[in-house]
Amino acid sequence: MDAAPPPATGIVDGFEGAVGNTPLIRLRRASAATGCEILGKAEFMNPGGSVKDRAGLGIILDAERRGLLTPGKPGTIVEGTAGNTGIGITLVANARGYRSVIVVPETQSREKIDFLRMIGADLRLVPAKPFSDPGNYVHVSRRLAEEMGAVHANQFDNTANRAAHEATTGPEIWAQTDGRVDAFTCSCGTGGTLAGVARALKVRNPGVRIVLADPMGSALYSWVKTGTLKAEGSSITEGIGQAARVPGNLEPDRALIDDALQVTDEEALEQVFDLQIHEGISVGGSAGINVAAAIKVAKALGPGHRIVTILCDGGARYQSKLFNPEFLRGKGLPVPPWLA
Ligand code: PMP
Repeated sequence: MDAAPPPATGIVDGFEGAVGNTPLIRLRRASAATGCEILGKAEFMNPGGSVKDRAGLGIILDAERRGLLTPGKPGTIVEGTAGNTGIGITLVANARGYRSVIVVPETQSREKIDFLRMIGADLRLVPAKPFSDPGNYVHVSRRLAEEMGAVHANQFDNTANRAAHEATTGPEIWAQTDGRVDAFTCSCGTGGTLAGVARALKVRNPGVRIVLADPMGSALYSWVKTGTLKAEGSSITEGIGQAARVPGNLEPDRALIDDALQVTDEEALEQVFDLQIHEGISVGGSAGINVAAAIKVAKALGPGHRIVTILCDGGARYQSKLFNPEFLRGKGLPVPPWLA
């Protein structure tokens, strides 16, 4: 391989122009272990550091199209988020002259919360509550938006989220693989990524297999398998899984999902640590779930297939958790040797 990188080409306009067009990385070890080609879409390379830059941008541009926000005029957008959507929304808002009010459960990683503060979000930390509780961060954000007369981004049910992935992530994957994709798997928080990519791929080739990857403690696996929401166990992974409801972005066509599988924290962390120390790719827990799921899909399909998944965000967002021996030991999870 030529050591010199190709010259940079093209100029993009501002933060918004830098969102998307991420590399599709061949994951060497996962591919070698399965005899398949396992490809990870490097969403941690988005300018705000996660796949949720795409949703944040899509939701704000949609609000502008609907006349709810006008570039250059004062406007406020409110969102409840595990952190990454808040980061994406705040950076897009900064670039377009809006204020952001971001509601985050206080259990989310310190790094995401610090970053939100750093970029000027009006941050509201709330205790973590189940969706059935009026104090749940999603409900708090909706009420705040109403009280302030502001736009509620509403990433779970606002299909501008899914549409952003249908218009960008999915077609990028199709182009990067020359249309040769056998399966796509990823986990769901809002379901925007899975549903949007699924739509874009299935419309081009209905044979592409779409597999939901679900952490323990989420009910989406049982929803796909049996039609009812039932959750068992728990996970340390942030930003994914739904214990008690199906987000609007996964409806009305069940996101064209063909099958679902579950991934444990141990399985996810094995991939996170492996990618980091053997491939130089540092990712967060949801990417670990996704890669572990891609390996399961590859083993089920057999050698020679190509499976695409999402590397949602970077490991630095979770230094205090996934890469902190005390945190890991406290959860009964393995500590990698170079951190022990
Ligand atoms: N991984 C991480 C780290 C996230 O923050 C999110 C979004 N909450 C997801 C995965 C899931 O993406 P989506 O909302 O598109 O399902």
